[in-house]
Amino acid sequence: MKAILVREFGGPEVLKLEEVPTPKPAAGQVLVRIHAAGVNPYDTYMRAGTYAIKPPLPYTPGSDAAGVIEAISADVKKVKPGDRVYTAKTVTGAYAQYALALEEQVHPLPERISFGQGAGVWVPYGTAYHALHHAALAQASETVLVHGASGGVGSGAVQMARAMGLTVLGTAGTQKGADLVKREGAHQVFDHSKAGYQEEIMKAAGGRGVDVILEMLANVNLSADLKLLATNGRVIIIGNRGEITINPRDLMLRRASARGFTLWAITPAEEAQIHAGIIAGLEDGTLRPVVGKELPLAEATRAHREILEPGASGKIVLVP
Ligand code: NAP
Repeated sequence: MKAILVREFGGPEVLKLEEVPTPKPAAGQVLVRIHAAGVNPYDTYMRAGTYAIKPPLPYTPGSDAAGVIEAISADVKKVKPGDRVYTAKTVTGAYAQYALALEEQVHPLPERISFGQGAGVWVPYGTAYHALHHAALAQASETVLVHGASGGVGSGAVQMARAMGLTVLGTAGTQKGADLVKREGAHQVFDHSKAGYQEEIMKAAGGRGVDVILEMLANVNLSADLKLLATNGRVIIIGNRGEITINPRDLMLRRASARGFTLWAITPAEEAQIHAGIIAGLEDGTLRPVVGKELPLAEATRAHREILEPGASGKIVLVP
């Protein structure tokens, strides 16, 4: 089979398409024929060797894929060959024609969701769900600012928060991104590349501030975020690429909190809730992953460059 291999940490060019043996499922494992693999920003940090998790080399990147069960080990009960699934992590990596996964890493992909969309489920929607439900304890009638709403996590969070009954404010850096954020359910959209846009957000929040901020670029926005919070407001720090100075008084005045977040730290009970919540939303149409770009697997290098460029528009997925 064809797979992307990383033999040394480095720039996007270290992603190489190679011919490797197709793996066979061991006990508790399934083999998934991958129809699409999702590209997430953390795939690029891991490839660069700068991420908290540094896999042994060589490795195949990717946790998010959608496809069909090709084979199972005899003890597997949850799925059978032919089932459509999405993956939440794999054993051998998602940027490939086939991947081994543990039985518990595959989940049913509803018929109405395409494979391309299914590749954009786990990290984006898992993050959105965990941030809104577990970290922020967001409630219907509250106001949420999805700060960076045009990408994978943000567009998923907009759909989810809207369905939960929140007032949803979103930001994007391009007109195309803003149109997407509005289409996916934000009540109002702001341009985070425009000077002074925070004042417009405060105005939209009636001067009292927002209850929840899902922050995709904390090193740029955290200081200003704290000033946008209502009393008892919560900033959930999802994305961060550097350092920033904040004034803790901004939190004190509002009895507010800034909470660090990582999807990798979820408990098994939280993970079960996340999948149940996501699958229900995919089934009833409230969650609709947005595929902005499909590229052939051979263009993984390009995908890793483009995922970090401004102008997000949903997910980038690789098609083997
Ligand atoms: P993505 O699809 O590449 O989207 C990036 C988003 O950030 C886009 O909406 C982009 O908007 C926005 N952005 C760019 N400049 C911004 C600014 N100045 N202020 C606010 N937003 C800005 O990435 P993603 O998959 O949604 O992930 C978003 C971030 O969360 C990444 O840093 C990722 O590593 C992180 N993340 C963390 C976890 C965790 O467990 N902690 C889980 C998932 C993701 P424009 O392109 O329109 O400017």
